[in-house]
Amino acid sequence: MNKLVIFCDFDGTITNQDNIISIMKKFAPPEYLPIKENILGQRQSIREGVAEMFDLLPVSLKDQIISYLLEQAQIRDGFAEFVSYTKKHNIPLYIVSGGIDFFVHPMLEKFGPFSGVYCNESDFSGESIKILYPHGCDEQCTSQSCGCCKPSIIRKLQGSDALSVVIGDSITDLEAAKLADIVIARDFLIEKCEELHISYEPFENFQDVINVIDKRLGV
Ligand code: MG
Ligand code: ZN
Repeated sequence: MNKLVIFCDFDGTITNQDNIISIMKKFAPPEYLPIKENILGQRQSIREGVAEMFDLLPVSLKDQIISYLLEQAQIRDGFAEFVSYTKKHNIPLYIVSGGIDFFVHPMLEKFGPFSGVYCNESDFSGESIKILYPHGCDEQCTSQSCGCCKPSIIRKLQGSDALSVVIGDSITDLEAAKLADIVIARDFLIEKCEELHISYEPFENFQDVINVIDKRLGV
């Protein structure tokens, strides 16, 4: 039987929507819009752009932001069952997210514990929310401006004898997908995989993910 290790994205993969965008829509002044456009148009790095957007928010909003996301964000169908499935089969499950600790951890709390949760961090000691990037790019990363560098994390955590599974939805998962043995993709990541001839399995919910992994485990 193959040994697997799973690296799963958070925003748009575990949650149905992108939480940073939800936060900005609800709480930020309109100045966030051109920054968002610049990130999407790849004219500004995710790392810089996300920091600039959060800099528009006063630290006093912290609790409101967390409650808002806990109330409003939808977790993709089958996620709880998927977490149990990985535990039952002893498959390490790492969450690798470009999200920020102060909302990622509370949102994941009732589903954990996980083998690890890697995300960006925040500092509420000033007037506006500051973003910290403790998981930066290693020297092998071709982007060098990731924020939370998923390929660097995979290189660090993937055992030499295990097959890596990357589950994701967007451009920020692409470099990770290039390294993966098995890619499970939805949305924009599918387009990118098609374009670059990276083989992938599509998913819309976590039962689909379980089915893909079942096949690989041969159960
Ligand atoms: Mg995502
Ligand atoms: Zn990187």
